[in-house]
Amino acid sequence: MAYHLLQRDQEGARRLADSLDYALQHVRHCEKCNNFTEEVVCELCSSQRRDPALLCVVEMPADLLMMEQAHCYKGMYFVLMGRLSPLDGIGPREINLDRLLKRARDNMVKEVILATNFTVEGEATAHYIGEMLQNEGLKITRIARGLPVGGELEHVDSGTLAQAVLERREVK
Ligand SMILES: [Zn+2]
Repeated sequence: MAYHLLQRDQEGARRLADSLDYALQHVRHCEKCNNFTEEVVCELCSSQRRDPALLCVVEMPADLLMMEQAHCYKGMYFVLMGRLSPLDGIGPREINLDRLLKRARDNMVKEVILATNFTVEGEATAHYIGEMLQNEGLKITRIARGLPVGGELEHVDSGTLAQAVLERREVK
């Protein structure tokens, strides 16, 4: 892409560079959901129309976007910005699990929905979070497997994803 822009679209390259520069200076992580935002607390977390009793844990911002596009969910989110992957040196600290624990303990959350991907790392991450939260007095659910094994939320059609959320099951 860099070669293409330099050779054929220098104006586009300039705009892209400006956008990235702007993002680097202004974009931060929401204090509540950890997603990218320009505010301290993002628009979604500030909304009065969301159900504060539901907290859905996803791996990446794109997964949150997919969930929103599926129109199946009206609760809150926590974005891990990754998944557990010991071989790559990504442990609980790298994906902010201490912040998730703190978030789940806000006395409003009643159910934590684990919506990590159905990959080996995603499943391991869901399992770890389930264990971490098991004594917090919360209902812990996992989205159902309408999704293909090895599947990533980002690549699933919204109907399938909506079904998986509706058919989520209790894991603890
Ligand atoms: Zn937020």
